[in-house]
Amino acid sequence: MDALSCALLPGSCTLCGSPLPQLSSVPICAVCWTEFPLQTGDACARCGDTLDIPASASTPASASLCRMCRLAPPPFVRAVSYGLYQDRMKAAIHAFKYDRLHGAARPLGQMLAQAIAQLAGEAPAEMLVVPVPLHRSKYADRGFNQARALAEQALGFLRKSHPEWRLTLASSTLMRLRATESQAGLTTRQRRLNVRGAFTVSDREAVRLRHILLVDDILTTGATARAASQVLAQAGAASVWVATLARARRLSGHRSRPVGKAEEDPRLSNHAHSAELEHSIDFSSHGQPPFFARG
Ligand SMILES: [Zn+2]
Ligand SMILES: [Zn+2]
Repeated sequence: MDALSCALLPGSCTLCGSPLPQLSSVPICAVCWTEFPLQTGDACARCGDTLDIPASASTPASASLCRMCRLAPPPFVRAVSYGLYQDRMKAAIHAFKYDRLHGAARPLGQMLAQAIAQLAGEAPAEMLVVPVPLHRSKYADRGFNQARALAEQALGFLRKSHPEWRLTLASSTLMRLRATESQAGLTTRQRRLNVRGAFTVSDREAVRLRHILLVDDILTTGATARAASQVLAQAGAASVWVATLARARRLSGHRSRPVGKAEEDPRLSNHAHSAELEHSIDFSSHGQPPFFARG
């Protein structure tokens, strides 16, 4: 870091406001870094969403899948995340993306590397790492693609921690065909419609029979990960895996209840439930099969 950037840095933590004891390339204090929210409890074996009902030895294997994944298996094998998209994690990602806190790429990339490391021993050792692309208009506004920046940093860490892995960054493989509305504030169904047809594979030969690790900063409803994975699968990818820095909990409290119980859940608004169900059925009716490696 040069003297100029030191001089420009604020003297207090971007996230909590406490004074920083020393100049650093990232104005986030040591305490905040330790208080990023992690996901706890049992998670869906496919999408990684938190299960409300703990999986146990006595429950069938299907019980370790959330309701959404049981009704409409995603086109990726498994999605992993480092932490939850809330509190300090959310603030740090916002500062990174919108306030251009570029120095955060390295520590956040290290967290992404830890998420990817959860796939060790399960995912293939040789994968193409594909960051979820921005549309060129959004890229022009933001000046960088946060998914690519995080992937580059994560790969640097993984080369040291997992030298057996051969991960190759392929950041121009997937393209965003149109600028999608911001996903914030949209329902699950709106998000899915928003990203439908949004992606294409620029070079199908580069993807064919390859194992893909799709990388993004956040996973919210999974609509983006599903849409992007689907075009990669259609282009002939052997398998698609997903890693994000953070995940948001989908719809509060009900999405992993067993089929049949959800309808009786008094916490559940009819609107939210029907939107989710419609989403699920819609995926099923589009003939999206459970994703299995081909070739
Ligand atoms: Zn702080
Ligand atoms: Zn799931």
